[in-house]
Amino acid sequence: MVKVIDMRSDVVTRPTPGMRQAMATAEVGDDVSREDPTVNRLEELCAKLTGKEASIFVCSGTMANLLCVKAWTHHGDEFIAEESSHMTSFETGGSAAFAGVQWRAVRGDRGSFDADDIAPLIRGEDIQLARTRLICMENTHTMAGGAVFPLEKMRSVAKLARERDIRVHVDGARIWNAVIATGIGIEEYAACCDSLSFCLSKGLGCPAGSIVSGPADFVARVRKYRKMVGGGMRQTGILAAAGLYALEHHIQRLREDHDNAKRLARALAELPKVKIDLSSVETNLVVFEIAGDSEEWMARFREKGVLLCPYPRNRIRAVTHIDVSSDDVDRVIEIARDLIR
Ligand SMILES: *Cc1c(COP(=O)(O)O)cnc(C)c1O
Repeated sequence: MVKVIDMRSDVVTRPTPGMRQAMATAEVGDDVSREDPTVNRLEELCAKLTGKEASIFVCSGTMANLLCVKAWTHHGDEFIAEESSHMTSFETGGSAAFAGVQWRAVRGDRGSFDADDIAPLIRGEDIQLARTRLICMENTHTMAGGAVFPLEKMRSVAKLARERDIRVHVDGARIWNAVIATGIGIEEYAACCDSLSFCLSKGLGCPAGSIVSGPADFVARVRKYRKMVGGGMRQTGILAAAGLYALEHHIQRLREDHDNAKRLARALAELPKVKIDLSSVETNLVVFEIAGDSEEWMARFREKGVLLCPYPRNRIRAVTHIDVSSDDVDRVIEIARDLIR
């Protein structure tokens, strides 16, 4: 049996023994009644880390974004998001279905944009127009290969939004990867937005869950809408314990994932048939192209036990995470050299 090295995504990570231990011993209660002490601790910690008044644990990143859109907008409003953003591409049209809003695309430069890009798209009070109520930024940006949204650009968007009385949401599913890649604190990113969400279930290695942080009255609305969509869970302390464990033990180690991603990228770049932009590998996603059909290449890797993810325009994505060790990366490099040479 070949050992499977699963690099399709960082959602495949499984709880470590230490995390399982923390989950097994978690103190729990009914979270809908706010009686789960572990959930309460996680929510308080996340509020403190992000410098926001309050935080709430929700089922997933998709739910986090959906509830934020719902809590910031009214039916018939519009929000602005980057054209290939996760919120508008991979969340089943939820904001239209549940919040009754439409969205306007801004074209990003590797997923990021600034005030000058946004200004012409903002629509105010006009009898004919849907009003822009919310601007969304994604950091790091999934479809831009895990690119970091530069802080200066975020600040310029935040300033414009304040001037125009528009709320700002950051989909920070992988914001901790941005924090580790840049050394910029999460509270600095959080200061650029009214609400911030991040995933516990990706690089942080938890089995489930995301966090939303923001003003207290906003988080209270999110809590109500979470109940409305059926996301009010009971003894969630078991999951929150995984979150607390991850925030303590799995943040700094993201650096290893980034180092592994860069090492893999450099090795791939040396192979004759591979096209890769090394400067694009900022965090834990490696996007590349191999001359020929990407599906066929991925099948060859799969036979050797390496699972990869298809990416638009005949490209392939490899993701480093806590279940891919440095030795695993060596092995993948070896396999790539054998297959591609
Ligand atoms: C994964 C992801 C989400 C959604 O998270 P789920 O927990 O899978 O619902 C949202 N935004 C971005 C940028 C993501 O990468």
